[in-house]
Amino acid sequence: MSSEKTSNSVDLVIRAGRLLTMRPGAAPINDMEVHIKDGKIAAIEPSEEGASHSSVETIDASGCLVMPGLINAHTHAAMTLFRGLADDMPLKQWLFEKIFPAEAEYLSPHNVYWSAMLAFGEMISSGTTCFSDGYFFQDKTFDAAIKVGIRGVIAQGVIDFPAPGVPDPEKNLDVGTKFIERWKGFSSLLTPSLFCHSPVTCSEKTLIGAMEICDSGGVPMQIHLSETLEEVNTIMGQKGIRPAYYLDRIGILKESLIAVHCVHLEDEEIRLLKERGTRVVHCPESNMKLASGVCAAEKIINAGIPLGLGTDGCASNNDLDMLREMDSAAKLSKVSSGAPTSLKAEVILRCATIEGARALGLDQEIGSIEIGKRADIIVVDLDKPHLQPLYDPISSIVYSANGGDVRDVIVEGKVLMRERKLLTVDMEEVMWNIKKIAKQIQG
Ligand SMILES: [Zn+2]
Repeated sequence: MSSEKTSNSVDLVIRAGRLLTMRPGAAPINDMEVHIKDGKIAAIEPSEEGASHSSVETIDASGCLVMPGLINAHTHAAMTLFRGLADDMPLKQWLFEKIFPAEAEYLSPHNVYWSAMLAFGEMISSGTTCFSDGYFFQDKTFDAAIKVGIRGVIAQGVIDFPAPGVPDPEKNLDVGTKFIERWKGFSSLLTPSLFCHSPVTCSEKTLIGAMEICDSGGVPMQIHLSETLEEVNTIMGQKGIRPAYYLDRIGILKESLIAVHCVHLEDEEIRLLKERGTRVVHCPESNMKLASGVCAAEKIINAGIPLGLGTDGCASNNDLDMLREMDSAAKLSKVSSGAPTSLKAEVILRCATIEGARALGLDQEIGSIEIGKRADIIVVDLDKPHLQPLYDPISSIVYSANGGDVRDVIVEGKVLMRERKLLTVDMEEVMWNIKKIAKQIQG
C-alpha cells in the first residue's frame, strides 16, 4: 500500500512500533504500522521506511510497544474520593464503620462526577481504555465517561439498605430499571448494567429482580461473590448451601452474570460456574489488602472460564494501575500455590486484555489488535531504565512496567492521551474540585 493511498483512506496511523496484538500465539513484531479508520482497525502492515503520512494524524511509536488498551474489569470509579481514608482494617469493619458512613454523608451527584473524572484521568494515564464499574449516582459516571471518551460498562448499585441516591431500598429495582432504560443505546462506548453488592446485602427477591431487569435490557449483571469466608458462612447459615449454589438455585448463575472476587470457591463451584457460563473477575490487590483470601485464578482459567482482572475501588487498592495489578496477580498466584510457574506473564496479560474483554462480553469488539476491531490501543515507552534491556516485552510489561510508562492512549480511534498529555480530561480542574471536596471530608 502506498503512503499516499494510506493517507487518503485512514484517520490515524500508529507507525514503526513493536506490535503485540494479543491474538493467540502471536509474538511481538517489530516495525509495524496500525491504520485506523472510523474508530476501527483498518490495516496492520510493516512500516515503510521513510513513508510519509503528512496529511493524516500520525503517532510515531519507534522504540515503543503498541498493544491493546488495558481492561479494568471491576472497579468503583468514584471511590477515588475515599482513597486512603481508611486502611488496614477488616472488610466488615472497614465497610460498615468507614465506607458506608462516608458514602452516606459525602456522596452526591457533584462529588461522584468529579471523583469519576479523577478515576478516568488515572485510568487513561495508566493505559486503561475500558472499565467495568458499579456504584451510586451513576448518571454522573456516565456524564463523566462521555465527556472523557473512555469505554465502559457502568452499573447502578443495588443493595437492600438505604443507599446514596436511593434512600428507600424498596425502590432500588425501580431505580435500576430506569437507569438501564435511560442509558441503553445512548453511547456506542458505554453499556449500562446493574451491580448487586453481594448475596448477603441483597435479598433473594432483589437478586432475581435485578437479573430480570438486566435480562430484559440485554445487559450483564455484576455481583461480588464469595469475597470473604464470612460471606460464605452467612449464606451457608441462611440458605444451607454455599453462595455459588445459592445463586444457581435462584436461577441467576448464568452467562449474563459477572461474578467478582470468587475468592472462596470450591472445585465443584468452579465447575458449576463453567457449566453455567458465568464470567469471573479477579481483584488480587483488593483481596490482599482486605485479607479476604486468594482467588484460585489459575484453576478458574484452566477450567475454561473467562477471567478478567480488576483493581476494585480505590479505597481498597489504592490505585487503578492495571500494570501494577498484573504484577501483583502473577506474584500472588506463585506465592499462594508455591509454584513459580503459576499464572505466567502472558496468561495474566491476557486477563488484562482479551480475556477481560470476554469477561465483559466485549471480545468481538476489543481486547486484541485485529482488523475490524475497535481501535482501543496503547503505546508504551520501552526506553526507560527499568524496562531495559528488553529481552521479552511481555515479561517487561507484566513484571517491570507501571502506568507511568504508557505514553499514548487511543479509544475508538480517538487519541485521549498523547506524549503523556491528557487531551479530554482537564486535570487541573479535576484536582481543584477533588481537593475542595476532600477538604470537606477531612473537616
Ligand atoms: Zn468491588
